[in-house]
Formats: sequence, structure tokens, C-alpha cells
Amino acid sequence: MRLQRHRQAVAATLLCFAGWAGAQTTAPALTAEQQRFHDIYKELVEINTTDSVGNNTEAARALQKHLLAAGFKADEMQLFEPFPRKGNLVVRFKGDGSKKPILLLAHIDVVEARREDWKTDPFKLKEDDGYFTARGSSDDKAMAASFVSILSQLRREGFKPSRDIILALTSDEELGDVPSNGAFWLVNHQRPLIDAEFGINEGGGGQLNKGKPILHRMQVAEKVYTTYKLEVRDVGGHSSLPTATNPVYELGAALGRLGAYRFPVKLAEVTRTYFERSAQFETGQLADDMRAVASGKPDEAAVDRLSRTPLYNATLRTTCVATQVNAGHAENALPQSAKATVNCRILPHDDPAEVDAALRKVLGSERLTMVASNPPLKSPPSPLRPDVMAVVEGLTQQMWPGVTVVPTMSTGATDSRFMRNAGIPIYGVSGIFTEPSDARAHGLDERVAIPRLYEGREFMYRMVKQFAQ
Ligand SMILES: [Zn+2]
Repeated sequence: MRLQRHRQAVAATLLCFAGWAGAQTTAPALTAEQQRFHDIYKELVEINTTDSVGNNTEAARALQKHLLAAGFKADEMQLFEPFPRKGNLVVRFKGDGSKKPILLLAHIDVVEARREDWKTDPFKLKEDDGYFTARGSSDDKAMAASFVSILSQLRREGFKPSRDIILALTSDEELGDVPSNGAFWLVNHQRPLIDAEFGINEGGGGQLNKGKPILHRMQVAEKVYTTYKLEVRDVGGHSSLPTATNPVYELGAALGRLGAYRFPVKLAEVTRTYFERSAQFETGQLADDMRAVASGKPDEAAVDRLSRTPLYNATLRTTCVATQVNAGHAENALPQSAKATVNCRILPHDDPAEVDAALRKVLGSERLTMVASNPPLKSPPSPLRPDVMAVVEGLTQQMWPGVTVVPTMSTGATDSRFMRNAGIPIYGVSGIFTEPSDARAHGLDERVAIPRLYEGREFMYRMVKQFAQ
């Protein structure tokens, strides 16, 4: 009965958007909730929240105002401003306590955007050609505005959650490891306020193939970033009198060994499931190789073939790659120093100490010094909890029948790593579908397809409601 009604509602929502992806200028009428969401979203993206000149506190206050208008009380929210202009808002929608809290995490800061580089003002929401275009239109204000609008709707509907729904809207995500603000700061300084059984964050989303939804990515892990500075030093001298101790050759040989070295294949639940489900969208040898790897006992030939594709290689193992070299001081002098930078992306289920030891062994030069300039901040993968999977997969089937949910490990970083480190499993899932060729987050003319955003917001609404029922 409930499912039936749900389906009708979905059908109505989707019908409402049919034919709206093209160059149509007149958009279909929005429902009252969609209109409210639109207004929150527009206001949020039009507040500049860049590090250089933006104001996250102003954005947090604007969102606070929408929540107050929906019936939230001032004492249900806290604004933290460790630095001027860099506010973070934490909201708690109290439940009856029969389940442990859920955390909804979204950052409200955005990457810099210069007016002269963009076709239109990056801080004015452009709504045409079927797209919302602005800085932050997807990363991550789509999610931040969705969460605010969802909590507001649930409050207006008189929803009584079975668990506290915590919303954390944070700053300084785009700056990387910032212990003094944002999600990292909340974990360190306000842990009880954000403590949850599990959470939802950015990092996932659906994939379209020529406008058709094909798979729904759920980010459950991310690789760990670390950088090493290498150096070989020597006494140098006149280049007319070469010696056997030239540091360029020594460093070059060490890097050559690194280039030929492959870290061992290490699979975890997330990457095994990723290969298993990705195999459905492939054919022939590639599909067979993915299934072989997913079985947990892959033959070496399958691993070799998959490793030729950088994404699969990076999914199978930890990688360390030389990214910079710098040596010598004159063309007619023997070099006194040769330096290199090696950037590592460690699997979340790998051991950084083992990677460090393996790297030293491979580079294996007595005179070579190796210093970690950016020590790894490890974050364990979130388990594929059956309760979380059931909700995400169930809603994906309701809204996009036939679309598979694929757990992923991202090679980049999100604030989820701080939560995972703190023992809060967190999942990157949004229901917002994009074309892989249209990935513009952090780049120029960032945009999201209008109907896809409303769909994603609807998905997240149902997801939050189901988790908190
Ligand atoms: Zn982001």
C-alpha cells in the first residue's frame, strides 16, 4: 500500500520533469516544497563562501533563518565560529531516542571562482538550458540546501523521528586538513554534538549515460594521502671530472625502481563489491577480469590486465608516484643535491607503516633521505551495513528502476575521513545524477541539471525519513 502510493508519487514527480532536460525555457510548476528548496538553494549559492573573500557565517545564518521559519527553535541550533567569516552550524532535530542519532554532513564553503574566468557571475544562480549554474551549485551547496529543506519539510509535516537527526554545515572543507575549523574541528572539540551511529555526506551520486541513469555510487571509503620528500646529497665538483657518486644517477636509479614496483593487491569489501557490480556494465575479458578479482582469488593475468587502466590499478592497490624532481645548480658542475617528491595514495585498508617500509626498501639507497612531508591521516572504510544498503538500494529501485547501487572508494578526499577516523561510519550518497563528461566541480561553470537536483533532493528526503522512522 505504502509502496504503491510511493510509486505513484514518484511517477508524478518524474512526469512533472519529463522533457525538461533540454533547452526548454518554461520550467514546469514546482511543488510548494520544491519552491522552498529552490529559494534556500538560490540564497545559499548567491552568498560567496570562498576562503579569500567569502562569508560562511553569513551563509550559516541564512540557513538558520530558514530553519527557524520552518518551526525550529533557536536552542536546537548552535553556530560555531572558530574564525571570523568561517562559521559552522549544527542543528539537532530531536528524536524519541529509540535509535542512535544520524549525522547529515555538508560543507558550505566553496572553491574560489573568478568572475572574469566564468561565462556568468559565479555567485548568481543561472537557471536556463535545463541547468543550475553557479559556484557551489553541486559541490556542496546542492546537498547543504537539500538537507536544510528536508529538515524543514519534516518539521512542518510534524514528523517524529525515532532518532536524533543531526545536521552539520561546515566550513573550510576545500582547504584540506584544517584541524582548526570545519568537520575536523567539530570532531575534536564538539564530539558529543555530532556523535552518531552513522552519517551521510558528499562523495557519491548517480551516473548518467547519455541522459539515462545507469548506476548510483555510494562512497564508503577514500584513499589516504601522503607525500614524501627524497634527497640524495654529494660533495659536487667540476663537471669535467665526473665521479661515481653523482646523486642524479643515484636518485634516478631509485625512482626507476619505484616506477617498476607495484604495491601488492589488497582488496576489501568495498573494492570487491565495486568490481563485482561494475562487471555488470562491462562485457568480455574486462567483465571476466572484474569478476575474477571480485571472487577474492584473482589470477595474476587478470590483475595485470586490470592494472593497465589507471582507475582499476588505483583501486586494486596503494600507489606511490614521483611527481617532481629537482637537481643540480649549474650545467658545468657536478650536482650537490638531487631531490624528488613522491606522492602516495594509500588504500584505506592498507597499513601506512608497511607502505613506508616497502617504499624505503624499493628506493634502497643508503644516502637517500626520505621524509614524510604530509603524514597520512588514515580512515577506515565504512562497513556495508545491511540497514543502510537496504534503504539506499530500495529507494534507488523505487526512483530509478534497474539502477545498481555501487559502493566506491574515492581516490580524492572528503570530510568523511574525519568521521570514519572518529568511528562514525559515513556514506557518500546523494541521488543526484550527472554525466561523467560534465564533471565541473571545482572548475569553470559548475552546474547541475535542474530535474536531477530536484530528484536528488527527493531521494535524500525519503532516505533521511526512512533512516529516522
Ligand atoms: Zn565538496
